[in-house]
Amino acid sequence: MDLSESFDQQIYSDKLKTLYTSNWISTAATLAVAALYVGVQLPNHGKQSLFTWLGFLVMIYTCRFFLTIRYLKRPPPPEKQRAWMWFFRGAVLVTGMTLGSTVLFFYPHDDVPHRMFTVLILAGMAAGGLTVLVADLVCFSGYVYCLLLPVIISCVIYADTFYISMAVLVGIFLLIILRASRRLNDIVTSSLQLRYENLALVNSLEQEKNQLSNRLGRILNDSSNELYIADAATLKYLQVNKGALLNLGHTEDEMSRMTLFDTIVDLDREAFNGLVEPLGFGSRDSVSHKTYHRRKNGSTYPVELRFQLSTQENPPVLVVTALDITERDEAERKLLHQANFDQLTNLPNRYYMQSYIGSAFARAKRGHTKVSLLFLDLNNFKDINDTLGHGIGDELLKQVATRIRSLLRAVDTAARLGGDEFLVLLEGLQEQDQAETVIQKIIDSFKTPFYVESNEIFTSATIGISTFPDDGNSVELLMQYADTAMYNAKKDSNRSYCFFSHELREYIDKQLAVKNHLRHAVNKGELSVFYQPKINTRNEQVVGAEALIRWHNSELGNIPPDIFIPIAEKYGLIEEIGNWVLKTACAEASSWQALSQRPLHVAVNISPRQFRSSDFLGTVENVLIESGLPAELLEIEITENLLIQDTAEPLGILNALHGKNITLALDDFGTGYSSLSYLKQFPIQVLKIDRSFISDMMENRFNMSLVDAIIALAQNLDLRLVAEGVETQEQLDYLRGKNVNVIQGYLFSPPIPAEEFRVLIQPKAP
Ligand code: C2E
Ligand code: CA
Ligand code: CA
Repeated sequence: MDLSESFDQQIYSDKLKTLYTSNWISTAATLAVAALYVGVQLPNHGKQSLFTWLGFLVMIYTCRFFLTIRYLKRPPPPEKQRAWMWFFRGAVLVTGMTLGSTVLFFYPHDDVPHRMFTVLILAGMAAGGLTVLVADLVCFSGYVYCLLLPVIISCVIYADTFYISMAVLVGIFLLIILRASRRLNDIVTSSLQLRYENLALVNSLEQEKNQLSNRLGRILNDSSNELYIADAATLKYLQVNKGALLNLGHTEDEMSRMTLFDTIVDLDREAFNGLVEPLGFGSRDSVSHKTYHRRKNGSTYPVELRFQLSTQENPPVLVVTALDITERDEAERKLLHQANFDQLTNLPNRYYMQSYIGSAFARAKRGHTKVSLLFLDLNNFKDINDTLGHGIGDELLKQVATRIRSLLRAVDTAARLGGDEFLVLLEGLQEQDQAETVIQKIIDSFKTPFYVESNEIFTSATIGISTFPDDGNSVELLMQYADTAMYNAKKDSNRSYCFFSHELREYIDKQLAVKNHLRHAVNKGELSVFYQPKINTRNEQVVGAEALIRWHNSELGNIPPDIFIPIAEKYGLIEEIGNWVLKTACAEASSWQALSQRPLHVAVNISPRQFRSSDFLGTVENVLIESGLPAELLEIEITENLLIQDTAEPLGILNALHGKNITLALDDFGTGYSSLSYLKQFPIQVLKIDRSFISDMMENRFNMSLVDAIIALAQNLDLRLVAEGVETQEQLDYLRGKNVNVIQGYLFSPPIPAEEFRVLIQPKAP
C-alpha cells in the first residue's frame, strides 16, 4: 500500500466518523423542527397521520442513534467501513424521504402559507444537512434530492406561473446547494489530506531523530572514552558507559552506588564547587580538569575530565567525559625530557640550564649566598675519540658524567653542554674557597683512569669558573665568563682551573672593542695586505708570497691578525674580511706575472668559518675571473682543525678546489693533530712546517727530530714542503740539507707592503 492510498483510507474513515458523530445537534434540531411542524399542521390535517409521520421519524432517528452507538463502541475496521457508509447513507435517505414525504401528505391545495411553510422547512433542512452531511456527497445529494425533488415535482404539477416560478427557484436552490456541497467537500478532503501529509512528515522526522539518537547512544556507550552521567546535586553516578566500566574495573551496580569523589582522586566538595561554578552561572558551557582516576584495584591513571551541566534533564545532570591521557602524558614527559636532558649522559642540557641558572641566582639572592659556574672541558677527548672510536668516546663521557655527579652535593647540578663540555653549578656558597675545594676534588678525580671495554683511559679536565654575584648577574655573561676563564686556563698547560678575574674582564672588554671597530674596518679602508716572500732554497729566488692581513685603527693602533682574526671568526665578521683579502691578494698577484716574467704564486689564509660559508667556492671562482690570475697560481692555506670538525663537508669543497687546479696547503703542520689519515684523505699538496719547530730546532733536539719526521712524511707522501719562520742561516742550511725546497722567514724578508714586494720581484738589471 503506498502512502497516498493509505491517506485515502484514513480520510475515508475520518469522513465516516464525522458523519456518524456530528449529527447529535442536527438530530435534536430536526426532531424539534418536525415537532413544530406537526404542531403547525395540526389544524389542517388529521392528528393520526401527523403523529404517525412524527413517530416514524422518531423511529428512524432511534435506529440511527443505536447505529451510531454501535459505531462508536466498535469503530469498524477499514474493510467494513464501506458497508457502514452504506448503512449511514441508507438511514439518511430514509430520513430524507420521510421529511420529503410531507409534500405528499401535508400539502393542502388551497393553503398557500402552509405550503410555503413546508417548502421553507424542507429548504431549511436541506441547508442544515449541508453542515453535517458534506463529508459524503452521495449522502448529501441523496438527502437534498429527497427533500426538494417532491417540492419541485408538486409545483410543476400545479402548472400555474407562481408554482412554476417557485419550482424554478427551488431547482436553482438545489443546484446551488449541491454545488456548494461539492466545494465544501473538496475543502474538507484536501484539509484532511494536508493533515495526514503533515502527520506523516512529522512522523518520519521523529523516526529519523530517534534513529539518530539511538545510534548516538550506542556509539557513546561503546566508546573507549569514559562517559559519566551524574546527578548534579548529589553527584551520584546515574549512568556510565562501557568505556568507564572497563577503565575503572567497577560493575554498573557498583558505580550506581558511587559518587564523583570516589573516582576522582584530587577533588573534594569545595574544590569541585569552585571548578564547576562557571557552569552554574552559565558563563561557560564546559569546564575541564586534569587529574587522576582511581580504579577498583586502587591504581590510578591520568585523565582529562570535561564537565557539562544539562538542565534539560529533571533533575539536572552533570555529564562528565574522561579521556585517558596516559599515553599523551608519557609522550609529553618524554618530549620534555628530550628537550631538557642530554640523551647520552642523562644530565640536564644547555637549554635546561639557561633557565635553571636564572632560578639558582634568584635563590642565592634571597639567601645571600653565591653560585659558582664551573665550565669543564676534557683535555684530550678528540684524541680518544679518534683513536678509540666514537663508541668508546661516548661511554667515557657517560662515566665522566657519573663521576662528576658523585662528587657533588644534592643542591649542586651537573649538566652537559655538548661534546666534551660540562657545566657544574655550585649553590649555597658563602665564599669562593668553598668552590675551590669542589673544583680540586673534580680535578683530582680524573687522576684515576676510566675503564671502557678493557681500555684504560686517562683523561684530564680544565675548568673555568665564574661566580654570582661577584662577577655579574646575567646568566649569559656568567656563562661566557666561565668559558673565557676555561680557555685562559688551557693556555697554560700547568693550570687545570682558572677563576674569572678582573684581567679577564678587561680582556673580554677589549675583545668587544676590537669587534666593534672591526665591523667597519673594510668600509673605512683600514685593512691592507702585506706579502711575505717564499724563497727557493736552491737558487734563493722568490717563488711566490703569502698574503698576510694588516689592520691599523686610529683608536686601537696596529692590531696583529693573531688577535683580531679569531675575534672576526667568533663574531661572524671573517667572511667579509677574508673575501676582501682573497680579492686584494689575487688582483695583486695577477699584476706580478707581467712584472717578474715568471709565474709567482700567492698563498691566502682561509679560516674555517670562511671556508664553510655558503658560497666560498663561488667567491673563489669569481675572484679568479675578475683578477685574471691563473688558478694554479693561487694557493689556499687551511689549518688542520678545519678538517677534523666534520670530514664530509670540507672534503667536497677541497676536491672542487683541487679540481680547479688550485693548490691546497696545510698550515701550521705539527701543532695540531697531525694525523696521517688526513693527509691521505684530503687532496693536500703542500705542508707548511710550523715556525715554532723551526725557531728552536737547532737548540731543541726534540723539535729537530719532529722537523725531520715531518720532512720524511712529506717526502714519502709526495707532498711539497714549506718551512715557516726561518730566521737564521743555520736553519736554512739545515733545511736545505734535508731537501726542503721552499722557505719563508725573516732571514729573507718579513711580510712587506705590496709596493715593496713588486720592487723585490722585478728582474734585476744585469
Ligand atoms: P700564519 O698563517 O702562520 O702566518 C705566518 C705568521 O708568521 C705571520 O704572522 C708572519 O708575519 C709570521 N712570520 C713569518 N716569518 C717569521 C719569522 O721568521 N719569525 C717569526 N717570529 N714570525 C714570522 P702574522 O702576519 O702576524 O699572522 C699571524 C697569523 O694570522 C697567521 O699565521 C694567520 O694564521 C693569521 N692571518 C694573517 N692574515 C690572515 C688572513 O688574511 N686571513 C686569515 N684567515 N688569517 C690570517
Ligand atoms: Ca699561513
Ligand atoms: Ca703558519
